[in-house]
Amino acid sequence: MTKEILLCKYGEIVLKGANRKSFEDMLSREMKKRAACYGNFDIYRAQSTIYIEPMDNEADMDGMFEAASKVFGIVAIARAAVCEKNMEDIARTARKYVPPFLEGKKTFKVEAKRSDKAFALDSMQISREIGGEILEVCPSIRVDVHHPDVIVKVEIREFGAYISAGQFKGAGGMPVGSNGKGLLLLSGGIDSPVAGYMMAKRGVRLDAVHFESFPYTSERAREKVLELAQIVAEYSGDIFVHVVSLTHIQEELVKACEEDYFTLLLRRYMMTIAERIAREKGCMALITGESLGQVASQTMQALGVTDAAVNLPVFRPCIGMDKEEIVTIARKIGTFETSIQPYEDCCTVFTPRHPRTKPELAKVLAQENKLDFAALVEEALGTTYTVHIKAEY
Ligand code: ATP
Ligand code: MG
Repeated sequence: MTKEILLCKYGEIVLKGANRKSFEDMLSREMKKRAACYGNFDIYRAQSTIYIEPMDNEADMDGMFEAASKVFGIVAIARAAVCEKNMEDIARTARKYVPPFLEGKKTFKVEAKRSDKAFALDSMQISREIGGEILEVCPSIRVDVHHPDVIVKVEIREFGAYISAGQFKGAGGMPVGSNGKGLLLLSGGIDSPVAGYMMAKRGVRLDAVHFESFPYTSERAREKVLELAQIVAEYSGDIFVHVVSLTHIQEELVKACEEDYFTLLLRRYMMTIAERIAREKGCMALITGESLGQVASQTMQALGVTDAAVNLPVFRPCIGMDKEEIVTIARKIGTFETSIQPYEDCCTVFTPRHPRTKPELAKVLAQENKLDFAALVEEALGTTYTVHIKAEY
């Protein structure tokens, strides 16, 4: 049986300079964590590539491939056959390994790359020879060097020669942990899990805060949020979800403040509480799923009023996206089906009939000052409990 290996390539671009080694270590660590779930693999790296080599027949290559495709910082993954570094073995392996990948396809080309310059043939010669071998065993296929259906790659590398007939895009982005830690405000909606995914993709490790309003929100609503965190964790790694009760704050708001301002006031409480948790947990930014103009609290004026409550940067990766674009990502990462389960959110209880869309900060503050803001924040913080979502790959 032909032995297969995964070649996970990380782009050079983000890895220049002094950070390179620590980025590479992060990537290797991520791969090793995932590999542990799929069997016995040897993981090593050379030439901007992480090699994932199964050590026995039980190792689950399909599972590992899937898991590796969720590691941020990897730009491409090839599943490749391993050969000895001589043309006889490469030819023999190509004749056996490549034909199934060409079934039903019309054209192919061979691209050879020789990073081991000591290898006797150059890339052109290797491509030509192996192309010829493949044509012999697959007589109905043609070579098309410009727009081939399948590219067969032959790579002569440090530790061996590799043949792959399918290259896949990696998750892209930067290794998680390479860009600090952020606190995601995670609701049960479609947008905030996507926002978390997008920042994790830029290398941000995530903690999350979820606000609930028990008994106005249900236990099932909270379960749904933890389920969403579990899915995001497949990409971002473990997430600590801090659950905070807003029940008392909401009840006080309803009693004391003008209805039109409820949502805005609540959002300022949320941001303030989130900032406190962020600072305690070493998170350097808040992350929300807001998208400009999507709802009354997401106009520029409203976002300004919300931001004025905090002194940390607020990242809103969905800000310029249409709902459709956000949904496309939610489907891709697997959160959509969970997000659309119809459970209430604390933002949807006590919603004003006529929310302010162009609020003025002074008027908001006048409403806010009707309550003891600081004391209510403290009290809410006191309700916090933390759930450790362990990544399952
Ligand atoms: P989503 O689809 O993410 O719920 P949304 O369009 O429904 O977003 P809002 O409900 O106004 O918008 O919330 C805006 C953002 O505020 C959310 O993306 C999320 O980051 C945060 N947020 C809303 N509700 C909660 C909550 N209960 N706990 C934590 N964060 C929340
Ligand atoms: Mg929501």
